[in-house]
Amino acid sequence: MSEIDSLKSQLESLQAEALAAFAGAADLSGLQALRVQYLGKKGALTEVLKGVGKLAPADRPVIGKFVNQTKQALAAALDAAEAELAIKAKAARIESERIDVTLSGRKAGRGALHPVQQGLDELTAIFSQMGFAVAEGPEIEDEFHNFDALNIPPEHPARAMHDTFFLKDIQGDDGEPMLLRTHTSPVQIRAMKHFLAEGGEPPLAVVAPGRVYRCDYDVTHSPMFHQVEVFKVGRDVSLAHLKGVLQHFLSAYFEKDVAIRLRPHYFPFTEPSAEVDIGCVFCAGKGCRICKGSGWIEVLGSGMIHPNVLKSVGIDADEFSGFAFGLGVERMVMLKKGIPDLRLFFENDVRFLSRMGVMK
Ligand SMILES: [Zn+2]
Repeated sequence: MSEIDSLKSQLESLQAEALAAFAGAADLSGLQALRVQYLGKKGALTEVLKGVGKLAPADRPVIGKFVNQTKQALAAALDAAEAELAIKAKAARIESERIDVTLSGRKAGRGALHPVQQGLDELTAIFSQMGFAVAEGPEIEDEFHNFDALNIPPEHPARAMHDTFFLKDIQGDDGEPMLLRTHTSPVQIRAMKHFLAEGGEPPLAVVAPGRVYRCDYDVTHSPMFHQVEVFKVGRDVSLAHLKGVLQHFLSAYFEKDVAIRLRPHYFPFTEPSAEVDIGCVFCAGKGCRICKGSGWIEVLGSGMIHPNVLKSVGIDADEFSGFAFGLGVERMVMLKKGIPDLRLFFENDVRFLSRMGVMK
């Protein structure tokens, strides 16, 4: 065999071997190694080309053309193999990232309204349905709205009994001391003043839910708690109206006909004043541990708005009268749901909250 035929045959077998190797490459890095092995500077093709020097000068262009063809064939085969591997790699990645949409999902935990918020909403809704307008007032109050206007002058013992948080660093516009309101009754004053300032004339019926503060903490007291204040001012508003509203509201809230009784009491801002009891919702009046055997449970304080309170906002107490009552939201929720300890509301134990809360 001539030198040139021998070289040609070497190149042919090299090409066949290389093409088979390219087709069998498992991945792109394996293919890159083969590219170096066959076409690299020290590769198999270069090795074969060393034989070209031994050829007669006339044969060299002939073999040169043949070498170029082989080179091009290998390069084309490499590119094709590379493209194929790239497609396979992409398909494998898509396969690995496939999502089974038929699997059932993981449920996100659902929130619930805090039982106190739920109570506030429920109580407010009942009065709202009865035609009372909803009003809110500031939690940081001055002494006028929290005490003076409500017929609790500075020397009044009730003022000391309120266990008030005074705010050291905050003063009112006129430099007066400010405090955290001890009840929602100041909203009575603010709502009446606002109503009159807008040119309104009684009747006026308002429900005012909100947070109040007293420095007190035990099984039945928390330094922050919630009240709902309810009042109506108009001509000929009487104790009978108060009792009718209470009867309707308490039966609506406890979702049954509850017996109520008014017991004479004293509050500075109402005259006459009465504490309101309901027939025990736990024993239906027979007597149990919760009602201490009496069959009655105290639920709120009420009365006819004191003329001095009406006067403090400029309402003629001879022409108009009103009733008012305030209730503790936590206490109402405890009675309705049979919750034994006030502190459960503020410990934020998720087990308690999810059992007592309403899912929305
Ligand atoms: Zn009872």
